[in-house]
Amino acid sequence: MKKKEGFLLIISGPSGVGKGTICKKIFKNEELNLEYSVSKTTREKREGEVEGKDYFFVSKDEFKKDIENDNLLEYTRFVGNYYGTPRDYCQEQIKKGKNVLLEIEVHGANQVMRRDPNSLSIFLVPPSLKELEQRIRDRRSESEDIIEARLAKAKEEIPQQVNYDYVVVNNTVEQAALEIERIITSEMSDRNSSGGGIV
Ligand code: 5GP
Repeated sequence: MKKKEGFLLIISGPSGVGKGTICKKIFKNEELNLEYSVSKTTREKREGEVEGKDYFFVSKDEFKKDIENDNLLEYTRFVGNYYGTPRDYCQEQIKKGKNVLLEIEVHGANQVMRRDPNSLSIFLVPPSLKELEQRIRDRRSESEDIIEARLAKAKEEIPQQVNYDYVVVNNTVEQAALEIERIITSEMSDRNSSGGGIV
């Protein structure tokens, strides 16, 4: 019998909302069958980030080659840098029955949603913009210009939550992670009797 395919799980939300922390938490739940898609980016590595684990850090030339060769499922430019999702890896994992977690911003998420109606999308919102600003500042890894640019971007992104299947408020990591786990579990059981596919 053909193995049941997984689906693309998009988790978006403004920079600093806590996507990374929450994704790490839900990842521990093995029943969700998750596999993380490591993106390519042209931005500088932050302290503590690991090549191949947090991102594949590449040059602009390499990124452009990936675009030309259609190696990316989606990509975008965000605050001066490129970010993109490797296509082959996602397709392989989905065929193996994994649900592939894409932690991506809204522009890329829209590309995936348009091309793959079987994807599941969740938008994570901060309790308030003030709280978001504090979280970005607490990271202490970026200059004032970049912080301002990321906040301006957040104000553009937040209204786009209407395009997503679900919206979750990140009041606490525990509550938000639990809500997301429930959404995935319920979607997995709904999809068990239906087909799937990826572009
Ligand atoms: P950061 O520089 O904070 O790691 O990421 C900036 C933004 O880019 C975040 O919203 C992050 O989720 C998003 N991002 C990371 N990887 C990708 C990707 O492959 N594609 C898209 N479209 N966005 C990404």
